[in-house]
Amino acid sequence: MREVLITGGTRGIGLACVERFLAAGDRVTALWSRDEEAAKRAQERFPAARFLRADVAKEGDVQRIFEQISLLDVLVNNAGISLFAQVQDTALSDWERVLSVNAGGTFLCCKYAVKKFLARGEGAIVNISSVWGETGGSCESAYSASKGAVIAFTKALAKELAPSFVTVNCVCPGAIDTEMNARLSDAERRALAEEIPLGRFGRAEEVAQAVFFLAGSRYTTGQAIGINGGFHI
Ligand code: NDP
Repeated sequence: MREVLITGGTRGIGLACVERFLAAGDRVTALWSRDEEAAKRAQERFPAARFLRADVAKEGDVQRIFEQISLLDVLVNNAGISLFAQVQDTALSDWERVLSVNAGGTFLCCKYAVKKFLARGEGAIVNISSVWGETGGSCESAYSASKGAVIAFTKALAKELAPSFVTVNCVCPGAIDTEMNARLSDAERRALAEEIPLGRFGRAEEVAQAVFFLAGSRYTTGQAIGINGGFHI
């Protein structure tokens, strides 16, 4: 049984990860920051998991969470926010918030997790990037920049931690059917699905499957794995 920490575990991809690790008999702690209703629903659905409130962009919150965790085997950095805006309409505060949650939150959780992994002599980190972190997405420059940072951070940290037997990988999902894409109209969804060689949006469970694999692989590190239906090859 492993101790697993999943950030952003109350909805979408994070919630699917909670389900996947619990099904394998692992012990799961999941974080959320704002949506109390989603947290309540998640806790009712998965009473075996522990759902804690913490904003991953705030070092004090992250520090407090890691004080409550004695052992850790797997960290999944999934918490993320999107921003759809043209660059000339993007406020500096919006840019900073997207970077500080998506990239900064990943950095902060790794910083505190690594101390625990080094004490144990092993560990696994799986970060959630995005296909936009690989290719860039129009009208999502802040989001794309934050996810590109996650990929570069993953690769650098993989090299830094390999001698300590800690693996660091990321997944790069394409269009996945979650609340993050709720802003899309039916016509936009259809148009996007037509651009995907496999012809449909991905499911959160399909990303969780890849996260679960990477968390268990002791000989895969520094990789950015696309889960995108062939959208970017
Ligand atoms: P959702 O919006 O459905 O869920 C996001 C989760 O993250 C929620 O649990 C949310 O809880 C939590 N969260 C957000 N901000 C914070 C924060 N500051 N601190 C702690 N928790 C936070 O998103 P998805 O499931 O769609 O996305 C999950 C990840 O996958 C994100 O990193 C996203 O960028 C990435 N991704 C998603 C794609 C998609 O098509 N859906 C495509 C590519 C990547 P709360 O609101 O309570 O804070």
